[in-house]
Amino acid sequence: MSEPRCVCRNHMKSLKNRYSSKEAALKQAMWHMKRARGATFTIVTCKTDPAIYHIISSREAKK
Ligand SMILES: [Zn+2]
Repeated sequence: MSEPRCVCRNHMKSLKNRYSSKEAALKQAMWHMKRARGATFTIVTCKTDPAIYHIISSREAKK
């Protein structure tokens, strides 16, 4: 397995969490939504590595 090409960073300037499957990303997104009430999260495919999924908050997605 090669290293993921993804170098996406979040607003905190740290690497975004990477998920190898949509199921894993979805599970984590649900967890986030429970903790951050009122916030919604979206699963997106990584722009640099389509095999990777990220979770972005709706706030982030509006940028
Ligand atoms: Zn990425």
